[in-house]
Amino acid sequence: MTALSIELVPCLKDNYAYLIHDAEAGLTAVVDPSEPEPVKAALERHGWRATHILNTHHHFDHTGGNLPLKEIYSAKVVGPEKDRERIPGIDEGVSEAKPWQFGSRSVPVLEIPAHTRAHIAFVFDDAVFTGDTLFAMGCGRLFEGTPAMMWTSLSKLMALPDATKVYCGHEYTQSNGRFALTLEPGNEALTARMREVDAARAMDAPTIPTTIGLEKATNPFLRTGSAEIRKSLGLIHADDVDVFAETRKRKDNF
Ligand code: ZN
Ligand code: FE
Repeated sequence: MTALSIELVPCLKDNYAYLIHDAEAGLTAVVDPSEPEPVKAALERHGWRATHILNTHHHFDHTGGNLPLKEIYSAKVVGPEKDRERIPGIDEGVSEAKPWQFGSRSVPVLEIPAHTRAHIAFVFDDAVFTGDTLFAMGCGRLFEGTPAMMWTSLSKLMALPDATKVYCGHEYTQSNGRFALTLEPGNEALTARMREVDAARAMDAPTIPTTIGLEKATNPFLRTGSAEIRKSLGLIHADDVDVFAETRKRKDNF
């Protein structure tokens, strides 16, 4: 099987859609098209046609391009089976029990609810598309789930190999990192990463993809075991879910 090409497509103010191209099979999937125009332009630049549209969750900034792109390319829309009624133009629902097939590739689906109740991630080889559940140094807000639910979802992502590339739904990295530093200023991996992030953002360059390993080392939402974070929160002996919940609460008010 030949390697996939993955292209990042900036949309709206700070969203990322992605193109996943299988040259051998002649297939191109678009992940979370916020709006049609930048996605269409990126496809045309490469001479590709969208064959599939994949949605991680129903929010409009991830599905706004579904219907127009489906109309232009006759692309098939694939999204969370448990949220069919909220995915515009859905043709095929997927779940952990019902992984997706992209050409000759099996694409495992992870059910990672809490930002929305049916949020999913798609795993393509060594890359995971995490939508608004896991961000670089951050995680999504809990609109339709509890801290325990989000902790379980993040734990599923943490179980992927450290080298797994993470493609998330938004460029929130710099502000996430600033928050992370308030809880864990002594984390050298975090301070080193922030220098790189600040340099990239100063040139308007994306900070994506990240990796599972880098997130485990720097993302406070995955670092509930950190003594420094626990001390910052005043929760030295609390369990992981309580540490996570307090971290999420502080970020909501940051
Ligand atoms: Zn969202
Ligand atoms: Fe979003």
